[in-house]
Amino acid sequence: MEVPETILCVDCGQQARRLTPTPEDGWEIGDSVAYRCTGCNDRWDLVVVDPDHPTESSSLAAEYRARSSPGAGGQDLGHGEEST
Ligand SMILES: [Zn+2]
Repeated sequence: MEVPETILCVDCGQQARRLTPTPEDGWEIGDSVAYRCTGCNDRWDLVVVDPDHPTESSSLAAEYRARSSPGAGGQDLGHGEEST
């Protein structure tokens, strides 16, 4: 299981650097990974998902992926998911 060192901030488009160090035992599905944006200084918390069985609704990573790839089947997955 690998997680990227950096992701692209969906707010400002700058790189967000990983804050969470790689665990000794490696990443496991369900682990949360924090990133800090170098542009807007926002913190992003992603959850490690199984790439073979990505969950569509419950992971920020899936939301990030959906939001960051407009045109690549970028439907609005957010309807009815506002749980805050
Ligand atoms: Zn940002």
